[in-house]
Amino acid sequence: MAVLPILTWPDPRLATPCLPVGDEDVMQLAIDMLDTMYNAPGRGLAAPQVGVLKRLFVMDVTWKEGAPAPCIVINPQIRWRSDDTATGPEGCLSIPGISTDITRATQIRMAWTDQHGRAHDETLTGFAAICAQHEYDHLDGIVTFDRLAPDLRAAAQTAYLDQSPT
Ligand code: ZN
Repeated sequence: MAVLPILTWPDPRLATPCLPVGDEDVMQLAIDMLDTMYNAPGRGLAAPQVGVLKRLFVMDVTWKEGAPAPCIVINPQIRWRSDDTATGPEGCLSIPGISTDITRATQIRMAWTDQHGRAHDETLTGFAAICAQHEYDHLDGIVTFDRLAPDLRAAAQTAYLDQSPT
């Protein structure tokens, strides 16, 4: 087990679009990312948050309720997003101490490959849909700040920087 250091905003790696995972073995990375996520503690963690610019994230939206369901998501593609949206507070392990209201589709269809090379194509709803969209954004170099209107973004960034020793 290895807990990896988590990059914090505004590290430029968090703003960099990631490359697809190829033939390389990402199993150990994914396991370390799960360890890091549980240790943080969080419900999702994307590879760029630990400095690896590859299209891979892990999530477990139910472990905090006592029902662990770790999910390793390789080369995801969001193929559909519902028109129906919801706005709710989101935190990010790379923006500690700050929660911002983000609007997201309430349902998505996502295709990905798991750690065994199996293909998935599933409809996600509820918190799983929100979490997957948040982690997917990281693979495109997008953080929650980037989804805020300019005035709200400025206020959130100021609040974040005011609490961080920089
Ligand atoms: Zn995040």
